[in-house]
Amino acid sequence: FRKDFYTEPSDLAGMTEAEVANLRLELDDIKIRGSNVPTPVQKWSQCGLGVQTLDVVRKLGYESLTSIQAQAIPAIMSGRNTIGVAKTGSGKTAAFLIPMFRHIKDQRPLAAMEGPIGLIMTPTRELAVQIHKDCKPYLKALNLRAVCAYGGAPIKDQISDLKRGAEIVVCTPGRVLDLLAANSGRVLNLNRVTYVVLDEADRMFDMGFEPQVMKIVNRIRPDRQTVLFSATFPKSMESLARKALTNPIEITVGGRSVVASEITQIVEVRNEDKKFVRLLELLGNLYSDDANEDVRSLIFVERQEAADALLQELMRKGYPCMSIHGGKDQIDRDSTIEDFKAGIFPVLIATSVAARGLDVKQLKLVVNYDAPNHMEDYVHRVGRTGRAGNTGTAVTFITEEQDRYAVDIAKALKQSGQEVPEPVKKLVDGFHEKVRAGKEHKAGNNAGFGGKGLDR
Ligand code: ADP
Ligand code: MG
Repeated sequence: FRKDFYTEPSDLAGMTEAEVANLRLELDDIKIRGSNVPTPVQKWSQCGLGVQTLDVVRKLGYESLTSIQAQAIPAIMSGRNTIGVAKTGSGKTAAFLIPMFRHIKDQRPLAAMEGPIGLIMTPTRELAVQIHKDCKPYLKALNLRAVCAYGGAPIKDQISDLKRGAEIVVCTPGRVLDLLAANSGRVLNLNRVTYVVLDEADRMFDMGFEPQVMKIVNRIRPDRQTVLFSATFPKSMESLARKALTNPIEITVGGRSVVASEITQIVEVRNEDKKFVRLLELLGNLYSDDANEDVRSLIFVERQEAADALLQELMRKGYPCMSIHGGKDQIDRDSTIEDFKAGIFPVLIATSVAARGLDVKQLKLVVNYDAPNHMEDYVHRVGRTGRAGNTGTAVTFITEEQDRYAVDIAKALKQSGQEVPEPVKKLVDGFHEKVRAGKEHKAGNNAGFGGKGLDR
């Protein structure tokens, strides 16, 4: 099968090495690893896409490519395995979808009982649903079919969808394994898969899906093309990633885990009993100033029970809100997100896992009511706002007792060029002091792994 569809346009091929380096620097400091990496493209017309796809891109209002798209699309269109790391909201989905459609259109059409050709795996159900939706405008234009398969929803419906045939399956790893086993393998097989996506890969591994992902990937032909995307990619993840991707091009835009500069980050040291009043103040400011503007807020808490308790309190104060977390069934979670996107209620309360990857344009305020306990989680949570060039504000509450978490949060602030507030500095210094005195273990390094990001 063919996977290389890219010929460098002559104006790009003619650039000197220094010019290319300069272009990458201008495009949010793109860093690359790997041999023969194509030059970033500057226009959609340089990507070697068909007119139908270009039409969809135009209709979606994507005037220019984002930095990750400019580098990743020609890399992937060249048939290369690719690791793409770029900030939240920078258009990574389109960076793997658009080359996938090109790839699929080039393959022999599916016969009965065949499919899919493109397999997209995500750590959460919500993200699978969102990517499936993102596919829709292209599917129509290109005459392709996609099925979304995730746990928690009736497997029967997914089985009948698959039986009707689909070039694309968007899924969570657990459900794929179930479907592979279903009906002696007559529902789903991976024989025709030649394009694999691991989205939010670090969290997928973090959540303990690694064995499942590897089991699936190992059933797919080894000459497949595999691409992996995330906003954060800790060094420790590299060896895992390389098990799934041979000889990849690695693209990093603007550092490994950096908060988008469009987001104003505020971090406040507050005791538990002072949080609620402050939250009311934040919401009060937002919803009185912008009374006519359609703005949304997202509040993160650590535990399911806390989400429901806060929901009651906010409702009593007159804020229509809903909550999502692992304790709710999937149909509820999906419809809550849909209603939040549609603007039916303005405030959503969530645990980290449930809101991963969520893309809501009107989201202006993120509040970490409970501080996230590691850097990647912080970056992802605040990255629900400030998307696609919009601005946003993220307010994080941290208690005196959470000095350990202050270390990572301060690091994230510094890396994104923001000032670390004095009270937070004090917490960090205090924590380091305790470490020196042998009263605490060091923070960091293992941060983000061992299931710490799980929805409790
Ligand atoms: P992430 O990098 O976090 O995966 P998404 O792929 O969800 O980000 O994209 C964030 C938003 O940006 C989406 O609403 C998407 O439609 C929009 N978007 C993607 N590419 C472009 C582009 N080239 N121009 C403008 N908006 C874009
Ligand atoms: Mg994404």
